[in-house]
Amino acid sequence: MGSLISNYIVIVSISGVLSALLALFAYYKKTDFAGNKPFIYSSFFSAVYTFGFALELSGSTMEEIGFWIKVEYLGMPFIAPSSLIMIMYFVGLERLINKKLLTLLYSIPCISVLLVWTNESHHLFYQSMLFRENAPTPLVDVVMGPWYIVQGSMTFGCMLAGMCLILWQWNRMKRVYRRQMITIFIGQFLPALGAFLYLIDKTPYGMDPVPIIMSITSTLYIWAILSRGMLTAAPIARENLFESMRDGVLVTDRSDMLIDYNRAATEMLEGLDSSAIGHPLAKLFLPAGKEAVDYVMNADPLLSEERELAWNFGGSTCYYQVRSSPVLKKDGNLAGRMIMLIDVTERTLLQEKLQQLATIDSLTGIYNRTYFMERSRTLLEEASMNQIPVSIILLDIDFFKNINDRYGHQYGDMALQHIVGVCRRHTREGDVFGRYGGEEFVMCLPDTSLQQAALLSEAIRKDIERSAFYTLSGPINVTASFGVAEAGRENISLEELLSEADHALYTSKRNGRNAVHMSSGAAITHFTPL
Ligand code: GH3
Ligand code: MG
Ligand code: MG
Repeated sequence: MGSLISNYIVIVSISGVLSALLALFAYYKKTDFAGNKPFIYSSFFSAVYTFGFALELSGSTMEEIGFWIKVEYLGMPFIAPSSLIMIMYFVGLERLINKKLLTLLYSIPCISVLLVWTNESHHLFYQSMLFRENAPTPLVDVVMGPWYIVQGSMTFGCMLAGMCLILWQWNRMKRVYRRQMITIFIGQFLPALGAFLYLIDKTPYGMDPVPIIMSITSTLYIWAILSRGMLTAAPIARENLFESMRDGVLVTDRSDMLIDYNRAATEMLEGLDSSAIGHPLAKLFLPAGKEAVDYVMNADPLLSEERELAWNFGGSTCYYQVRSSPVLKKDGNLAGRMIMLIDVTERTLLQEKLQQLATIDSLTGIYNRTYFMERSRTLLEEASMNQIPVSIILLDIDFFKNINDRYGHQYGDMALQHIVGVCRRHTREGDVFGRYGGEEFVMCLPDTSLQQAALLSEAIRKDIERSAFYTLSGPINVTASFGVAEAGRENISLEELLSEADHALYTSKRNGRNAVHMSSGAAITHFTPL
């Protein structure tokens, strides 16, 4: 029996050493995890408790044993609250950790220490202490005082609360963190079980098994810190961050199989749910369209790349900024990649709208004067470089003021739209067609000679003349006058060309309207088709 006890003392001492080691380990671990601090405290208090217990076991007189019990109590009451706080950090409940909670959790242990050290004068903690009979070594039996029950409830309460928090968050925890979670759960459950058995007197010789259990849990913790990266991060906090991101995130392994995603990603990719995990990423992008699949398949996993892509989601086109970046292991080797999806639909649509407002005439839907000039200038430069003719047609509606005056401004607007409709029947791809002013329109025609442009003008003129504009008040006949010019000489500016066309137009107006005149340098001639 004696040797059993000495073995027991050795194991308890080892447990104390392990707890002290654990505290040191956690202390020197470089970590951002705020729960590391309460973990250090909890390990330190466990060390105090277990060493005190080993010395209590080796004590032979009541005084010695009584003294070491007091030493034990410098550690024991603080273990459970410290562990609970560590778990709160672990499951992402740090916002609940405040001065009020800390005071509540630590005031009872502080009072316990005070009462244990002064127990002889009030017996509030232990009513009495007696040597146990038939024990192989001097062991004491205690009769609980009222505060003993308070302290005991506090310890069990904290352990139970810790276990409940872990179970509560179990489903939200990603698989990679579950091993750490199990470790912490066992670290709570086993000592609680031991303490409970001790309380109901079901332990051998009525000895406290918790210090022995602690040697197991400390070993487990050391293993988890070394191999599982425990205490490096609060998984739920990280998880919350990941899940609450507005941008979608997809994580793949080296063979481009999906291994993780967040909630935002499910709102960007059709069919993304847990069944997609373990499947090729490209397959996931299939509903998004070919462009998206091509990008995903061809992005270099070793490079950070960014691209703006449009794809279908829920029947409408959405725009995403897709960023692919490598995920590296600690040793620098490729572990996979992370794809970030940023929804830029609103921004892109707004840009498109602004672009439209800046380039399109809202009444007629053709280019406005500014954009016409910009596009035509480019056409002119290109044509000059390639020695290709470019012509300009300027047209002005005849007596347009009369339409406004007789039928009202609204009909005037409709007449403008009607004329644009007729002109559009004649424009080709590559022609630039714009509204030059109120009822004046302009065309810039690449690869078109003066004669061809005049011929086109004549066709449009006839078409306008023939196509009456139908209103509720009956058909309105509209005609237009035309001026044509060609950029024949080199380096002629757009302004000069427009001015030539304007002179020709003016001649059409002066000569009775509803006619085409062309300007060739100095001479302006009436166009009469053969
Ligand atoms: P001309 O044959 O000499 O060109 O005679 P005109 O009446 O067509 O020319 P004038 O320059 O005297 O009048 C042009 C009119 O076009 C005056 C203006 O009120 C009208 N106008 C300009 N822009 C708009 C528009 O956006 N909508 C409407 N309804 N009328 C417009
Ligand atoms: Mg005019
Ligand atoms: Mg006019």
